[in-house]
Amino acid sequence: MRYSLAALVANAFTGNKHWPPAWRDAAPRESYDVVIIGGGGHGLSTAHYLAKEHGVADVAVIEKGWIGSGNVGRNTTIVRSNYLLPGNIPLYELSLKLWEGLERDLNYNAMVSQRGVLNLCHSDAQRDAYARRGNAMRLHGVDAELLDREGVRAMAPFLDFDNARFPIQGGLLQRRGGTVRHDAVAWGYARAASGRGVDIVQNCEATGFRIEGGRIVGVETSRGFIKAKKVAMAVAGSTSRVAAMAGMRLPIESHVLQAFVSEGLKPLIPGVITFGAGHFYISQSDKGGLVFGGDIDGYNSYAQRGNLPVVEDVCEEGMALMPMIGRLRMLRSWGGIMDMSMDGSPIIDKTEIEGLYLNTGWCYGGFKAIPGSGFCYAHLIATDRPHPAATALRLDRFAKGRLIDERGAGAQPNLH
Ligand SMILES: Cc1cc2nc3c(=O)[nH]c(=O)nc-3n(C[C@H](O)[C@H](O)[C@H](O)COP(=O)(O)OP(=O)(O)OC[C@H]3O[C@@H](n4cnc5c(N)ncnc54)[C@H](O)[C@@H]3O)c2cc1C
Repeated sequence: MRYSLAALVANAFTGNKHWPPAWRDAAPRESYDVVIIGGGGHGLSTAHYLAKEHGVADVAVIEKGWIGSGNVGRNTTIVRSNYLLPGNIPLYELSLKLWEGLERDLNYNAMVSQRGVLNLCHSDAQRDAYARRGNAMRLHGVDAELLDREGVRAMAPFLDFDNARFPIQGGLLQRRGGTVRHDAVAWGYARAASGRGVDIVQNCEATGFRIEGGRIVGVETSRGFIKAKKVAMAVAGSTSRVAAMAGMRLPIESHVLQAFVSEGLKPLIPGVITFGAGHFYISQSDKGGLVFGGDIDGYNSYAQRGNLPVVEDVCEEGMALMPMIGRLRMLRSWGGIMDMSMDGSPIIDKTEIEGLYLNTGWCYGGFKAIPGSGFCYAHLIATDRPHPAATALRLDRFAKGRLIDERGAGAQPNLH
């Protein structure tokens, strides 16, 4: 069923009792052309683009919990393409372009809101670095504006411009960046993929791979063996565990990232603002709550909850940036498991096992990448060739020393 004004009115007059389920909650069949492991944003978008762009609809997405239970429903909803390195910019810009047309493509209101992303700078060196980043973006056809201090003040007068340690000198603004309602993204892709014939199978955990003569033949699951010509991993924070079932050891660590939301306020924060003297990002949801986060917890974990030191750290950074939030009450906090790669950039690639594909390493930034990653991963799975926007995102870059070290931090996940 297409969502439209006519459907809304018709259903309103019949007590909203006749809406069909948004997608089929399928039971697994014996075999598929493609099985995607992980019903997060990346798995679901891959299924959608496989069916839509390549006509490959004999696909199952198997999810051990429920759709949206992972990071796709736990993030701070920021989307942007303000990257520096040529290995990353094409993918994130492709993704932002897909976000811009996503609601029409999916016939689903994902609340895409291009309210701008502003990265603040607090020193001359940082302003130079942002000027360089902005130039790199513009050379790739991506929008970027360098604001001086007064330009920032006009947008966000409530910031502490004269903070003794971190005075604000200006900022790099990407107006096309913004926020998207995170769980609507999971639901929208699930609905669109299901509508094209993809089976979305919830409560179905991959427990092993069946590999014969170096080729994948299927997946062992908690609901029985599923035969498949191709199997694609898209399990984000669980990548190391799932890949280990195929005998692979990856340059990935799993860490907790927390997010926080405050009580509701009248509209205050114009877009997304990031603090350049630490790691703090904040925006305001349509309900009025301030949504913010900071660093990962700094130790490896598979727990979807974090610890107090990072709560304190994040709140201190928020106070340094905008002291007026000191009297605000925090409503909720939660955590998700991040697939941190050793250079801070993702991997979309084949593996040495024929027919087994890998999508991982999304670190803090995999929500914004969901459309672009799904588009490129679907291309790789369908054609066995990397999509032009993802040619640098190879697994062997770690062996060959061709790292895409976006932040220049080296192999230190808690610095990416
Ligand atoms: C607190 C927080 C804030 C964030 N903020 C942002 C942000 O503002 N902007 C941004 O771009 N990114 C952000 N991210 C990162 C982003 O959310 C993730 O990089 C991205 O969602 C990961 O991809 P996914 O959606 O496919 O992951 P997930 O939703 O985690 O999907 C993976 C799925 O695989 C399933 N799975 C695991 N193992 C198995 C198995 N054996 N069998 C079957 N299924 C399995 C899991 O249950 C899960 O549902 C944030 C993350 C967190 C935690």
